[in-house]
Amino acid sequence: MVAKDAKIIVVGGAGTMGSSTALHLSRRGYTDIRILDMFQPPSSNSAGNDMNKMISTHYMDGIWGRLALETFDAWMSDSLFTPFIHPVGRLDLANHDKERIKTLKHQYGLSVTAGRGDKVEWLETKEDILKRGPHMKDADIEGWTGLWAKDAGWLAARDALTAVGAELRKIGVKSAFGTSGTFKSLILHDDGKTVLGVKTIDGTEWTADLVILATGAWSPTLIDLEDQCVSKCWQFGHIQLTPEETKALQGTPSMYTGELGFFMEPSPHGVMKFVNEFEGYTRMATCRPFGSDKDIRMSVPRSHALHPTDTIPKEGELAIRKLMKTCFPQFADRPLFDTAICWCTDSYDGNWLLCDDPRYKGLILATGDCGHTFKMLPIVGKYVADLIEGKLSEEDEKRWKWRPEGRNPDDTGREGLKPQDLSDKEGWCHDGDINGDAIVADLAGRMDNSRL
Ligand SMILES: Cc1cc2nc3c(=O)[nH]c(=O)nc-3n(C[C@H](O)[C@H](O)[C@H](O)COP(=O)(O)OP(=O)(O)OC[C@H]3O[C@@H](n4cnc5c(N)ncnc54)[C@H](O)[C@@H]3O)c2cc1C
Repeated sequence: MVAKDAKIIVVGGAGTMGSSTALHLSRRGYTDIRILDMFQPPSSNSAGNDMNKMISTHYMDGIWGRLALETFDAWMSDSLFTPFIHPVGRLDLANHDKERIKTLKHQYGLSVTAGRGDKVEWLETKEDILKRGPHMKDADIEGWTGLWAKDAGWLAARDALTAVGAELRKIGVKSAFGTSGTFKSLILHDDGKTVLGVKTIDGTEWTADLVILATGAWSPTLIDLEDQCVSKCWQFGHIQLTPEETKALQGTPSMYTGELGFFMEPSPHGVMKFVNEFEGYTRMATCRPFGSDKDIRMSVPRSHALHPTDTIPKEGELAIRKLMKTCFPQFADRPLFDTAICWCTDSYDGNWLLCDDPRYKGLILATGDCGHTFKMLPIVGKYVADLIEGKLSEEDEKRWKWRPEGRNPDDTGREGLKPQDLSDKEGWCHDGDINGDAIVADLAGRMDNSRL
């Protein structure tokens, strides 16, 4: 518990978990909050800085099911967030993946049992699918099956992050961005344990009573998380539709299939995003996070924001095209633009790392987003605030605690194969020399660029 006038720093405060945390703390009456980030909101490095993200409530079990219902309500009722949700529904489909079909049937059954039968519908045949998703009339989906969810759709992600950033400014949350917002190290008391603040890469020392680290995929590179999170990346691309095509797809449900990927309706300007689904890529490199006395080999993000000329792997582009060709053969050869890589960090057991860091007094970790935390923007900060105020339920505290001891080397934090490394992938081109990484090494203040 900290006083309402305590000095609180949220590192990564222009990203998803960080800005939500600053918002909730401010709404609870904390008066001296400062967000630090490499970029101002909507942070260009944030996984949430994207035109759209999916949201759904049809996975009913476990913690993510509970949180999905809570966050859907928040998007629909909190006036800061309501402009950004598009509850157009969702098709969640499968073809060959029998396990996936079993899971979807199970989730469908759970919804019905929970009295939410009017919010879901089982789609047994292509005809059933087309009733809910007539926009897929040309799709090659004979034999596909799945479910339709009513309380689902998409979020205008970048716009929502921008709105939260603007709200933070309006309600008096302080900020620093760029080199004076980029975390270099903690400042510790002589006892080596008590956190006194944060030093940023320009040498500024920001004093604080409490520091919250919400730096997404960068978290393991900044503070030694003892292997609890592995950062991974995914890729996406966009196509341009004509005004007629755009109109025809307006208000259509989002579509997800674990076998190919997902898409949502186009923007009003006819831009449509496609993402292929797979287990993600790592990018193994060496760095020395704060708290470690040795270099550690781990997956280190290389963001599109800092490396805008980076391309995506050839196989990724082919997978995106396969998704497009299957669902919209008429768009199959449309040029892809603004292809990019986006980084998340998976905890080994698929739960947030949202806890006091037991090694330091006054450091809270809010990370381990596991690739589906954007939808939690309205509520994740509530749980960080609950943690700070000692109000987390025992169950949640246990689930999100510091837990390096539970790691099994084979845990990947998600279904599917172990991730492959980006560096081994053909077509993943970057600026050609090490200088791009050297800049980031300088920015991050800790990576030895000769080994990146
Ligand atoms: C392709 C793709 C599709 C996705 N689709 C969905 C979806 O449909 N629905 C969904 O819910 N989720 C989705 N996600 C996941 C979602 O975007 C993330 O889970 C979420 O945005 C992560 O939030 P975060 O706060 O942990 O990290 P981020 O939002 O990435 O924020 C981290 C912040 O830390 C800052 N930072 C980094 N280093 C430093 C430093 N040294 N000093 C200061 N600040 C620093 C960054 O600038 C950034 O602002 C998707 C992710 C990807 C990659």
